[in-house]
Amino acid sequence: MIRKTRLFTPGPTPLLPAAQFAMAAADMHHRTPEFRALFLKVLAQLKVFVGTKNDVLLLSCSGTGAMEASVSNLTSPGDRVLVLTAGKFGERWRDLAKAFGCEVELVSAPYGQTFDLAAVKAALTPETKAVYMQATETSTAVRHDVEAVAKLIEDAGSEALLVVDGITGLGTTHFDVDGWGIDILIGGSQKAVMIPPGLAYLSVSEKAWAAMEKSKNPRYYFDLRKERKNAAKGESAYTPAVALIAGLGAALDYIAGQAGGDLEKGRIALVDNAITNAAATRAGLVKLGFTLFAPTAPAAAATAVAVPEGMNSGDVVKALKARFSLVTANGQGEMQGKIFRVAHLGFFDFLDTIAFLGAMEHIAKDTLGLPVEYGQAVAAAQQVYAETYKE
Ligand SMILES: *Cc1c(COP(=O)(O)O)cnc(C)c1O
Repeated sequence: MIRKTRLFTPGPTPLLPAAQFAMAAADMHHRTPEFRALFLKVLAQLKVFVGTKNDVLLLSCSGTGAMEASVSNLTSPGDRVLVLTAGKFGERWRDLAKAFGCEVELVSAPYGQTFDLAAVKAALTPETKAVYMQATETSTAVRHDVEAVAKLIEDAGSEALLVVDGITGLGTTHFDVDGWGIDILIGGSQKAVMIPPGLAYLSVSEKAWAAMEKSKNPRYYFDLRKERKNAAKGESAYTPAVALIAGLGAALDYIAGQAGGDLEKGRIALVDNAITNAAATRAGLVKLGFTLFAPTAPAAAATAVAVPEGMNSGDVVKALKARFSLVTANGQGEMQGKIFRVAHLGFFDFLDTIAFLGAMEHIAKDTLGLPVEYGQAVAAAQQVYAETYKE
């Protein structure tokens, strides 16, 4: 049989064809009226996509660049910051904050779980300058409760800035950025916005802009104040990733087009799409006898699945690739071999979920030797779909 390559990884994610065409056609210089018009259009669209009145900046770097900027621009050496960590990306916040000389207070949760809010509350002190967290921890496919953490900060009367890595949270989670008081919310191009890696975007509150004036950490390429000044003119400080920005504009047009041209409604539909696909995937996999790695707080961005004791998740990843050219992700670090991850963020529809589960029925039976009746996982997903979208 022939095979179509299908990416089911939580970044990079499948590319939107319309965005690929826009990228191929983006033969333009960045100090021209054509580019300025494109850049201003995309920045305005991003504000709607993020759902905020705050400034949204676009940087030519992977998501980690915007994470670094959120440490270097907001803090000074010796500042106390609180990092909430429950996986590889939470550990990245810890390492970044340490690299810029912060005194890092940690609240940790075991891999596969989210934080105990009482522990977060107890760790918040009047000296806490900023709280760093993920909206969804992609390494474990756990969803964290950003709204609850924002409320804790507010109820404590704390001045701490709330910085959220929403790199797989955006497009898979409903946020009220301004209502909850998220000071920085970060996204990345290779996740829900359906284009290749290379861009990061972030919303920045007035409170965060004020904090930047006092920060004593060094910054040059990632000087957000410089980017804000340039963005107001439709430019970026250095040569931007022009083609990716054109692709991003086309992707945001597509998302709006899914809701009659209304980008806010399109964003909501995209999030609901991920939520339904994630729920259907979980139902199908549980039916096949798999155990969810994050049963209590599963993310809609991706699903992490534990393989039965004594089996290797790498075998599932390899078999899916060899038999169906379907690409999933193994666990990272200590989780390698124990879990595999399948994505729902961005350009996935319900029929992609059906295809994945159809493939998994064969893998569960032939690779893992589980007792499978064909159609079991697919039927469970169909049930979720039917209950969610009653005609
Ligand atoms: C993908 C991802 C990142 C960014 O990683 P880059 O490789 O720098 O793009 C950061 N945080 C989370 C939660 C992610 O999923």
